[in-house]
Amino acid sequence: MSAPPRPDLLSLTPEDLRASLSDHFEGRGQPTYRVGQVEKWVYQSLARSVADMSDLPGVERSALAEAFDMATLDATTVQRSTDGTVKHLWRLADGELVESVLIPTPRRLTLCISSQVGCAMGCTFCATGWGGFDRQLTAGEIVGQYRASRQWAEDNGYGPITNIVYMGMGEPLSNRKAVHPSLTILNQGYGVGARRITVSTVGVVPGILELAARPEQFRLALSLHAPSTELRAELIPLEKRHPLPEVLGALEKFDDGGGKRITFEYTMIDGINDDVDLIEPLAELALRVRAFVNLIPFNPIPYQDWKASRPDRIRAFAEILERRGVSVAVRGTRGRDIDAACGQLRGHTLVQIEKARKD
Ligand code: SAH
Ligand code: SF4
Repeated sequence: MSAPPRPDLLSLTPEDLRASLSDHFEGRGQPTYRVGQVEKWVYQSLARSVADMSDLPGVERSALAEAFDMATLDATTVQRSTDGTVKHLWRLADGELVESVLIPTPRRLTLCISSQVGCAMGCTFCATGWGGFDRQLTAGEIVGQYRASRQWAEDNGYGPITNIVYMGMGEPLSNRKAVHPSLTILNQGYGVGARRITVSTVGVVPGILELAARPEQFRLALSLHAPSTELRAELIPLEKRHPLPEVLGALEKFDDGGGKRITFEYTMIDGINDDVDLIEPLAELALRVRAFVNLIPFNPIPYQDWKASRPDRIRAFAEILERRGVSVAVRGTRGRDIDAACGQLRGHTLVQIEKARKD
């Protein structure tokens, strides 16, 4: 019979970590300050293993490592773009790969993290979607991307991470069991302000409602990409299960939560979702839930021959939306030379593997 899995120090919420450590050390007749020592190693010193916790006596380190797991990630590749964007590909304990991206701007350092290995949603414009779903990430593996990226940023003169977006691989609201605790851990354990954390979803309604019910002011991004159910269904299979009117209803609940901000992500694809007739319905949706609109030029993927909308079309969208009173930004394509957009590095790895198999 195999031993039951040990709790992962990085997956526990601060409250559960404290309780578990208190029990553990009490059971061993150790002073209560041991709890604080371990907490400091986890949240502040970013220890990579129990063996690093050098102010614990050796015998206590062994006992702690026997009782608890600590699943840290190893970087397999680090790619740095000419614009400063950095993409890490992390290897998990079972050999699976996930990526995260650091995006520096003059006043911020944003970290984009993954919530699943692959994604089951199958959106037609997304490399991760084409790759399919492999498995859920644990809370510790989600938080682990932050810990390892923060360490890398410190070591390489990038400064502190100021913002976190759940916009890497996977659909965060399809992994709520791990994403909820990961939000709590990042916020309460590592001190990242709730308003500096954005969860991006393609429209998983029960997940939006759960997030709306949380007291913290985490931000929500809806990957909208089309203002009508018909067009959206061509891009996003989930639209058939949770059509736009239902998603909008959930967003209204989120908006009611006082001070919670919603963003619409609108990836602009030439000839697919950039008709000028779509601007007015898009404006109406944005005004209804007071959403900020991010227009993002489509990043070409290996599976489709679509192109990004032309710059003049993107500008027209932005200008008309603004005139209608919608707050809008055009997102640059950061890290394009290293395919840092979304699920692309692992996407490319998969394509290379497929090609290699065919050869
Ligand atoms: N699953 C979540 C979060 C991860 S995707 C979601 O879909 O919201 C992060 C963002 O990248 C989403 O807005 C997604 O629509 C966008 N995206 C995916 N593929 C893209 C591509 N090829 N070009 C531009 N944006 C893309
Ligand atoms: Fe999944 Fe988001 Fe990509 Fe859709 S866009 S396949 S939900 S990662």
